Amino acid sequence: MIIGGACVAASTGQTLDVVSPIDGQTIADLPNASEEDVHAAVAASRSAFDNGVWARMAPAARKRVLLTWADLIEKHALELAVLGVRDNGTELSMALKAEPMSAANTIRYYAEAIDKIYGEIAPTDPSTLALIHKEPVGVVGAIVPWNFPLMITAWKIAPALAVGNSVVLKPSEVASLSVLRIVALALEAGLPEGVLNVVTGEGPIVGRALATSMDVDALVFTGSGRVGRKLMEYAAQSNLKRVFLELGGKSPHIVFDDTQDLDQAAQSVVAGIFRNSGQVCIAGSRLLVQDSIHDAFVDKIVALTQEMRVGDPLDMNTQIGAVSSAEHLERVLATLEGVESIETGGKPMLQETGGSYMQPTIVTDMSADDPLVRDEVFGPVLTVSRFTDEADAVTQANNNELGLASGVWTSNLGRAHRMISGLRAGVVHVNTYGGADNTVPLGGFKQSGNGHDKSLHAIDKFINKKTAWIKL
Ligand code: NAD
Repeated sequence: MIIGGACVAASTGQTLDVVSPIDGQTIADLPNASEEDVHAAVAASRSAFDNGVWARMAPAARKRVLLTWADLIEKHALELAVLGVRDNGTELSMALKAEPMSAANTIRYYAEAIDKIYGEIAPTDPSTLALIHKEPVGVVGAIVPWNFPLMITAWKIAPALAVGNSVVLKPSEVASLSVLRIVALALEAGLPEGVLNVVTGEGPIVGRALATSMDVDALVFTGSGRVGRKLMEYAAQSNLKRVFLELGGKSPHIVFDDTQDLDQAAQSVVAGIFRNSGQVCIAGSRLLVQDSIHDAFVDKIVALTQEMRVGDPLDMNTQIGAVSSAEHLERVLATLEGVESIETGGKPMLQETGGSYMQPTIVTDMSADDPLVRDEVFGPVLTVSRFTDEADAVTQANNNELGLASGVWTSNLGRAHRMISGLRAGVVHVNTYGGADNTVPLGGFKQSGNGHDKSLHAIDKFINKKTAWIKL
């Protein structure tokens, strides 16, 4: 772990085994931090914040450090991607772009924004001057998941650091290795000691200690709704720190019979659920197909799915890598117990490797309130349902407690706009799926969360607005 600029073990000496889902081998051990270690990391962050070594550094100088850090991440991209893939099983072809390169570009985006953020002068009575200062909130806790550890870490910590905060970062116990490495690279780039600390270990101990700390000012989180709920409780039980949650999804992908290119739609549907073994927050896991084309479209996606190459994620030809851990594979398989209408897949595979692999799976004819259709599986499982018309599509799509992303295929422009306004989801894709750019916010509606990552809007989470009244 890195606390106060030093590379340290857990104070108790405890470790966790890091088991690769590629072959079930133990590849490293990880410090299993205690509450005391978290307190030490928070204290290091607080001290770095209070002494102003980063918070009061000229914005242009902070920018130079962050740009150097991004360059170092890019220089080490292959090493970082391989480290992450050995840890969490994402296919390397995707991880190279989506992990180190995405993280480097996110850090650059916020580095470049630093010296373009202005305060305000309020239009008050001319006898007073009212200034609105934007100040960093102080110490930010960031808790991240295992599915895209570098990309999501950068979404959280790049805007936080850019505006002068100090950070304590807690990666998932299932994917900490590449995150530890980029924090070491931040020090190499010149980030002052104590500004960015990373503690590894178990969520209920390390994450909880961070969330209940009286000295953490804001908490940003990506992960499950189950843990997100707890974090709000922890904040209420401690110092009412602000809590921003990016949670799961059960995103509807809707195909109308007027779609211009059904082959392209089928490819997008399949990629939109099965990349990274379905372990993608915005995965289009609920397919809704208009009655008139339902059977033919299911035939298309089943054929495409059966052609997908599942295997060693370090092979650049692999299209679907490993499920992140043996325990997670078991959880995903359990969601299919008793399900009869499996069109393809449904079974573990490549067991002789010792790794955790699963056939991409398509299930039809489930009722709308079946847990498989209702709840996030976070694995390579797609459910398919039918709809009659636009109104039915919107009703079925919105019939879920989650509202992260959605997709619509149609050649009717009016219908596309009506669907964009009717769908209760933070992201609506039209005739495409899974687009991403640092300039565009990502955040969920309903129980998919209450914050936004990415874009300049994300900076608001890490700023206090201070008003100053001056009598003239
Ligand atoms: P998770 O909620 O199990 O764990 C996330 C993090 O929380 C980990 O670092 C974990 O150690 C920590 N944690 C666990 N218990 C804790 C506790 N009691 N107190 C504090 N911290 C605790 O999620 P996961 O399995 O790592 O990730 C998968 C989930 O993340 C899915 O639901 C997925 O949809 C979601 N996700 C959302 C987005 C988004 O942008 N909305 C992006 C990626 C993933």
